[in-house]
Amino acid sequence: VKTIAVVGASLAGLSAARGLRHHGFDGRLLIVGAEAHLPYDRPPLSKGFLAGTVAEPDLALQLDDEDLGAEWRLSAPASTLDTSIGRLTLYDGTWIDPDGVVIATGARPRRLPGRTLPGMHVLRTLDDARTLRRDLLPGARLVVVGAGFIGAEIASTARTMGVDVTVVEAAPTPLAGPLGAQMGRLLASLHTDHGVRLICGVGVTGFAGTSQVTGVVLGNGNVLPADVVVVGVGVIPNIEWLEGSGVQVDNGVRCTAAGATNIPAIVAVGDCASWYDPRHGAHRRPEHWTSARERAATAAVTLLSRGAKHGDGAAARPTRPPYFWSDQYGVTIQFAGDATGFDSVTVEAGSADERDFLAVYRCGDDAVAVLAIGQSSLFMRWRRSLAAPERPRAEVAMAQDR
Ligand SMILES: Cc1cc2nc3c(=O)[nH]c(=O)nc-3n(C[C@H](O)[C@H](O)[C@H](O)COP(=O)(O)OP(=O)(O)OC[C@H]3O[C@@H](n4cnc5c(N)ncnc54)[C@H](O)[C@@H]3O)c2cc1C
Repeated sequence: VKTIAVVGASLAGLSAARGLRHHGFDGRLLIVGAEAHLPYDRPPLSKGFLAGTVAEPDLALQLDDEDLGAEWRLSAPASTLDTSIGRLTLYDGTWIDPDGVVIATGARPRRLPGRTLPGMHVLRTLDDARTLRRDLLPGARLVVVGAGFIGAEIASTARTMGVDVTVVEAAPTPLAGPLGAQMGRLLASLHTDHGVRLICGVGVTGFAGTSQVTGVVLGNGNVLPADVVVVGVGVIPNIEWLEGSGVQVDNGVRCTAAGATNIPAIVAVGDCASWYDPRHGAHRRPEHWTSARERAATAAVTLLSRGAKHGDGAAARPTRPPYFWSDQYGVTIQFAGDATGFDSVTVEAGSADERDFLAVYRCGDDAVAVLAIGQSSLFMRWRRSLAAPERPRAEVAMAQDR
């Protein structure tokens, strides 16, 4: 491997580039990014940056003295990948013939059908956050469509800015899908206790306004007046540019448990990548910061193992279960594992009423995921235990109790 192209200049791409250099790759490294910016951190965009407490330079993901020896091609989205001749072409018409490719093109917000009127926003990029921030004036009426983590964080931050906030969620509770209704109800009370109107169980059918959004039309016919709207209804992986490339895609780029695609010398990482999860016997595409960073290191090793001359020959480490955090209304929510199809969830430490607790999700007797507000050290122990699939989960739980 003499030349590697990393496509996507954000957390996963930068982490993969670091992983490649760390494991001894000393060849030509190109990092191709659609955005004009060097890699920056997205989590503060719905938190401190939106509130104005985190400045733009503090979002930079690269360290001041970090030199990866990479050639950066910014504002230069990749348009096609021809794996039959190994050619990566950019929208500006230029091309590169790399020996290895890291696909790290992330995801973009899903949009609702219809026109996007002034005052309507999504939040994914720095540019999105800049424009949203300008609209969040004290007293403005904000309607957030979708009570997922990003929607909830925007609602929480907007409250601290003196904005009047309503959140609309089609499911019966926030995050009913990933966390279940019981924990969803608990997160619902976070909104309502902080003066946010939460409307669940009703969908959005359209938006009112002509030159500016003035309202959100609900499935029950009601119209919520709005000066600002944020649509936070999930993300779609950026994989269309791979059409016809031969790289297998499904809900994301389909990868092994170490990030290899079906094409030799092409790996995929981050929010665009659907890795095989041996714990669940299925492919999963976590959309979380920690997975994007950790898995990039694994994928770098996978890529270099096909060109050992330039790598240190290290074996890819098994990945840890997905983990994410979310800061809302002054508390940090942490979740690790995968609760898909869980049978039960029980609060095992602290008190849900006091918003300082740890809850364990189980399939049969096996703990599969853990959710906590507070309880950091116990959460860390559970997180580690979920990463040890060779030990029966019930046994691990008992060992922790001792
Ligand atoms: C507002 C916000 C708050 C968040 N908060 C949290 C949090 O609290 N906790 C948590 O765990 N996670 C959080 N996340 C999720 C986390 O930021 C993402 O999981 C992470 O950014 C994924 O990194 P990535 O590099 O895979 O994708 P991205 O960060 O999406 O980067 C992909 C990059 O590839 C570029 N690209 C796309 N197509 C092309 C192309 N054809 N050619 C070249 N470049 C291309 C994109 O422009 C983008 O710059 C948050 C995300 C957002 C948006």
